[in-house]
Amino acid sequence: MEDILLIEPNYANKYPPLGLMKISTFHKRLGDCVVFAKGKLPDELAEKKWDRVYVTTLFTFEWEKTKKSIEYALTVVKDLHMVFVGGIMATLMPELFMETFPTIKLIEGLLNRDGTLGLRDEKCIDRLTPDYDILDDVDYKYPATDAYFLYMTRGCGMRCQFCAVQTLEPEYVPYLSIRKQIAEVDRLFGAKRYLLLMDNNVLRSNQFDHIIDELIELGFGKGCTYPSPHTGKPLRRYIDFNQGLDAKLLNEHKAQRLGELAISPARIAFDHIEDEEQYKRALELCAKNDIKYLSNYILYNGEDFTGKGQHYSADTPRDLFNRMKISMDFCDELNAKYGNDGRVHIFSFPMKYIPLNAIDRSFVGTHWNKKYLRAVQRMLIPTQGKGVSTRSFFEADFGTTAEEFIENLAMPEDLLGLRGHFVERNNESKEDRKKRYAQWKVNHGRIDEWTRLYRSLGDDYISYVELIKDNDFSMDNYGRANTPTLRKMFIYNLSYLSILRNIEGLGADMLTYIKVEFPLLYGELLRYVIHSAHTQFSCLKGMLTLQGTVFITDVIRAFIEEPYLTTNVFDALYKAQKDLKKVVLDTRSLDIALRYRTANAISDTELKNIMRLGLECDEKKIEARLYQKSKQLRETLREQNEDEIAGEVILDKIEEIIALLQKVYRKEVK
Ligand code: SF4
Repeated sequence: MEDILLIEPNYANKYPPLGLMKISTFHKRLGDCVVFAKGKLPDELAEKKWDRVYVTTLFTFEWEKTKKSIEYALTVVKDLHMVFVGGIMATLMPELFMETFPTIKLIEGLLNRDGTLGLRDEKCIDRLTPDYDILDDVDYKYPATDAYFLYMTRGCGMRCQFCAVQTLEPEYVPYLSIRKQIAEVDRLFGAKRYLLLMDNNVLRSNQFDHIIDELIELGFGKGCTYPSPHTGKPLRRYIDFNQGLDAKLLNEHKAQRLGELAISPARIAFDHIEDEEQYKRALELCAKNDIKYLSNYILYNGEDFTGKGQHYSADTPRDLFNRMKISMDFCDELNAKYGNDGRVHIFSFPMKYIPLNAIDRSFVGTHWNKKYLRAVQRMLIPTQGKGVSTRSFFEADFGTTAEEFIENLAMPEDLLGLRGHFVERNNESKEDRKKRYAQWKVNHGRIDEWTRLYRSLGDDYISYVELIKDNDFSMDNYGRANTPTLRKMFIYNLSYLSILRNIEGLGADMLTYIKVEFPLLYGELLRYVIHSAHTQFSCLKGMLTLQGTVFITDVIRAFIEEPYLTTNVFDALYKAQKDLKKVVLDTRSLDIALRYRTANAISDTELKNIMRLGLECDEKKIEARLYQKSKQLRETLREQNEDEIAGEVILDKIEEIIALLQKVYRKEVK
């Protein structure tokens, strides 16, 4: 009996590792002990050494995490030659693995031949029943587990240049029965609700009718149910051809046969704008045959490709928008025509193209740039991976026209996330709602101002795109902004902290823009420094240098308008002045006033009055007012603490604190 460790690298993925699950079945049949780990083993098994370790691989851009898993495998295996690495990435880039890890054994391609693992009595592992039990070994929860994961065909043959299938599964196998595997899963693990068919191109099969007949026989015909294992109540079951259906190969007969299945969703790719008619035809065939839940993958960031016997041009951002809009518009048409007994739903899933040999996600297509790619990712966050399906969301998030979409792509990421209507919340107090609304208005003020500037560029928007295309918002890049409008627009890509830190480098004209032309932004900067308990003095120095006392009084005024008692801004302001060797007002006295207020020794009104003395930069008056209140402070603190356990110690401490407060600004209080 051997100890076998199976590792899936620690990336997020939807489907469990079928190859490892089948290897587990094989080893368990040999009587071996099998353990599955996601990334690495839990600490309690850290010392154990293993006879064989299998590491699966998936996307090439997950190379870093994959590499870590193999490095780990090599530390826990007894013999360095007993680490086996297989799966998609290992098949696509074998040289990279062998160069990096010379002792490992690489398993390229499918496990569909006898002896792929070099074990005695080893038959075709690919046909074994996956061992679902190993999934209990890890905390990671795969979104899809209550399902049979099977293939009824292998390969594809359409040779799309961007697709890995031609390397992974070069031969087309038109039919593989799944009867036995389903019976075996039912016997060993209990019936599953869903059927995920991982076929790459089932529509190409010359035994397609046979496949449909078998699926219906197996209990996946339209409207089928199965008894809930918990309650016994009938639950709807669904089939998902999760790698998609080839629009080019869908015809009336095949659509009608698919309509006999409990298929949901029917996934139809719309990878190239050139495929519009074919794509729409496929959608219509589905809707007509009562397949109402449709979803599409929309590849973007692509290059010039060949595939399916034709040539496709590299896609543009406009192409992405147009394909999504075509889906949206066509969905409405289909509903008008076929939606009487239930609406047609189309979910769009934009998918970023990454070349098959890329070991990270940084690839940028010919007509794209880093900033645009980032913006698309940002726009997709609210969908939470569920696709874009409603027009209202699509238009609010992507735009109503291709031009608006391009504008949104150029919008600073921070602003992109702040768009949207103001939404009222249940259980929110009036006060909170008022505050949230005020902030929403400020955010939209910034969005409107950036949009105004962008639109003022007209066709010259290209010069802005040139400036931001690398998503580089450093001051060096700011130096390349050669017009006032570009400089103003650039600022919206900077955080408030960055604006403050770099205000001198941004230039006096930008300070004028922020203060005079668009004072809302200056107000936000002030709020930012006030509403923090950790404002760094260094970020205030630029404003002090450019504005001196004016900046100090602006901060005080902003504080009076919206006090924030735990702010450290007054302490930071003093440090910044000291660092610049020009103390106009010892703002620590205002900091002490805050402590008086926190201790309830003065009221809000008194605090504001003291702050107003700060506006006059009259230190003496502030200190005198604080002195007047020091007795009150002492009394309040004593009252608050006299019943405390160890009250005496606390009272002594209070005296110490008061003495310290007095010492801070070097005044003798008698
Ligand atoms: S049709 Fe689909 S599976 Fe087949 S090669 Fe093209 S992209 Fe790949």
